Amino acid sequence: MLIIVSLLLVTMALSAVMLFVLSSLRKSGARGISEWSVANAMAVVSMPLFAARGAVPDFLSIEVANTLLLSTTALMLAGFRRYLHLPVPWWRLGGWVALGLFLILLLHHGVDSTGGRIVAMSLLHAVLCLEMGMLLKPQLGRAKRHYPVLFTLYASFGTAAMQLVRAAVYAVPLAGFPVPWNDTAVSMIFFSIGALALPALTLGAVMMANADLVARARHAADHDHLTGARSRRAFFELAAREQARALRAGSPLSVLLFDVDHFKRINDTHGHATGDRVLVDIVERTEAVVRGIDVVARLGGEEFAVLLPDTDADTALLVAERLRDGLERRPDAAAGIDAGYTVSIGTATLGAGESIEAMLSRADAALYAAKAGGRNTVIDARALPAKAV
Ligand code: GH3
Ligand code: MG
Ligand code: MG
Repeated sequence: MLIIVSLLLVTMALSAVMLFVLSSLRKSGARGISEWSVANAMAVVSMPLFAARGAVPDFLSIEVANTLLLSTTALMLAGFRRYLHLPVPWWRLGGWVALGLFLILLLHHGVDSTGGRIVAMSLLHAVLCLEMGMLLKPQLGRAKRHYPVLFTLYASFGTAAMQLVRAAVYAVPLAGFPVPWNDTAVSMIFFSIGALALPALTLGAVMMANADLVARARHAADHDHLTGARSRRAFFELAAREQARALRAGSPLSVLLFDVDHFKRINDTHGHATGDRVLVDIVERTEAVVRGIDVVARLGGEEFAVLLPDTDADTALLVAERLRDGLERRPDAAAGIDAGYTVSIGTATLGAGESIEAMLSRADAALYAAKAGGRNTVIDARALPAKAV
């Protein structure tokens, strides 16, 4: 009995630790944190009530403690639903908890049966944990949170399995069969496994919320906030990767560098908000023109780059001409673009032993020449006199 009391107190301590971990995630914006926190707070209250059996009124250590513990599992499930942006069926979850309380009252004041109460509670915990597992299973495919989901799946299905075995083990003597096992040893084993269930589920939840936080931060660093195009940082990272691949495979690599013509005038005439809409429009239309493997990035202000893997200089020129033509825009009120615009493009293809920066600076010189040549045109860096590069 002393060991069981110690285990209950250890679970209480673990839940208290989880509360601190969860509160550190409060500002992360992850959904479900409140439900998981309340669940652990309830465990912190219910564990000493279980442990104080005999020292406090039975109503507290049986009815209240069991109802609180069942509520923790229901709240963990509610938290996972909120985390996945799904509605929480509070009435149904409340219904399970109410059913639990009803059965406990029945098996305490009706027919007083400890075994019956354990079977009833185990089955209800198992149902909720199975639902948790089924809810999370489809999330396994999402690479960014694969490991946390796998961990939580093991925790929820493992807990469900353990609760079902526990219900079966306690149902055998209830059915009138003699049992060969020692009741204290059996309850010890279940308590030990059960003690880990809530902290394990909470740890899974924390890992999932944390994985999302990391993925969000990474996405923010890799993408331009206004247009959703790749950021300058991501462009150079991807360009280095493509350069290595091009060297390995002996394939060509090209870049288009383009800049909006007289963009300042658009801002000055139509306002900064229209200018912003034009930038968003440009990225949308550029992405529609190029292939999925091409990298569209906003290098700064109203200057963009498109990295074209497996593309030689002639093809790059064709793509650039198609892009220039595709981007030439008259004012389009329906699309919310009240300013027309054009772009000038410089193209360059990676030379033998050339760096990405050197290729970009040739594309920049070509872009400069396109501006000087009257704008709304494409110039290939190959067409520049050698001194211009
Ligand atoms: P050119 O044809 O020679 O490229 O002329 P331009 O007016 O486009 O070039 P310039 O470099 O003189 O002006 C660029 C303008 O882009 C100035 C700057 O205020 C504006 N700009 C930079 N970033 C943003 C942005 O995020 N939103 C808006 N609306 N304007 C921006
Ligand atoms: Mg410009
Ligand atoms: Mg510019």
